[in-house]
Amino acid sequence: MRALTVQPGHAHSIKLEDVPLPSEEDGAMLVRALALGICGTDREIIAGDYGWQPPGQQRLILGHESLGRVEQAPSDCGVAPGDLVVGVVRRPDPLPCPACAAGEWDMCHNGQYTERGIKQRDGYGSEWFRIDPAYVVKVDWKLDRLGVLLEPASIVAKAWQQSLAIGSRSPSWRPRTALITGAGPIGLLAAMMGVQRRLDVHVLDRNDDGLKPALVHALGGTYHSGALGNLRADIVIECTGADPVVLDVLQRACPPGVVCMAGVSAGGHKTAFDVGHFNRRLVLENQAVFGTVNANLGHYRAAAAALAKADKNWLARLITRRVPLSQWREAFTHRDDDIKVVIDFSS
Ligand code: BGC
Repeated sequence: MRALTVQPGHAHSIKLEDVPLPSEEDGAMLVRALALGICGTDREIIAGDYGWQPPGQQRLILGHESLGRVEQAPSDCGVAPGDLVVGVVRRPDPLPCPACAAGEWDMCHNGQYTERGIKQRDGYGSEWFRIDPAYVVKVDWKLDRLGVLLEPASIVAKAWQQSLAIGSRSPSWRPRTALITGAGPIGLLAAMMGVQRRLDVHVLDRNDDGLKPALVHALGGTYHSGALGNLRADIVIECTGADPVVLDVLQRACPPGVVCMAGVSAGGHKTAFDVGHFNRRLVLENQAVFGTVNANLGHYRAAAAALAKADKNWLARLITRRVPLSQWREAFTHRDDDIKVVIDFSS
């Protein structure tokens, strides 16, 4: 079968190559891949800046935003041949730590978790993959090919769940406004889930016009390009990882607001920062700033519910390009108007 592979740590080693069919050790369920979403993490792995191959192997099969059709499944596992499914990314650490033991692998304490397509486990970027049914989420047939948005949506569902949980440390807190920085797939899905919660949603990105502002307006949100003035919000979800934006959002929450950092920064750039001023405000306004990564089954289910009630035409506009597997290189060539690029394994 054909698979997209990389040699982690080696820049631009990505290739489409023939690899053996997936081993039964990967799980009892056999899935035929339909689509694979591409994200910033994949680009980092391709650049050689992130990612780990499975122990004893040279290469890693890339891909963690999956969508496939079940070919073989054990009876009574809740998923049957023909069903559309998405694979969970992370697996618990072998110890396991208390969080992993409780199914909260997204909160792993010791960092020894593994991730398909990212950390020590082959990903979903192959024509077939095998998976343990315990790590499969069934996709509503009405979502069809939009099911490939489930994994990024799970990241956002966790960001919302955690922000609301932290905010509710003050039982009288009723968030009304949300600021989302970044109108990529994560930011737009975060905006969508904010609107679903009936919040007044503001989204910041760089584009003055085009699809991103149009998608925010279609949700009923307010789009800001560049400047935010003195806007403050009850919940801020930072999805860019860009240093100036990260610094700026530290000042953007209304007391006792929550700032959720969901964008991974590259690091390596130093910026002058008034620690005392930041801390003074944080303390005097009861603010909380926290980071979030990955998702557990509860978040995948919350994401599935959010996608199920979303406008399918709006979701479809998030996928700006579907590239056939045979032309996979194009999927990794950046275009300014890209939001979510998907490699189509079914063509
Ligand atoms: C994935 C997460 C993963 C994270 C760090 C993200 O792109 O969506 O599932 O935990 O990268 O590896």
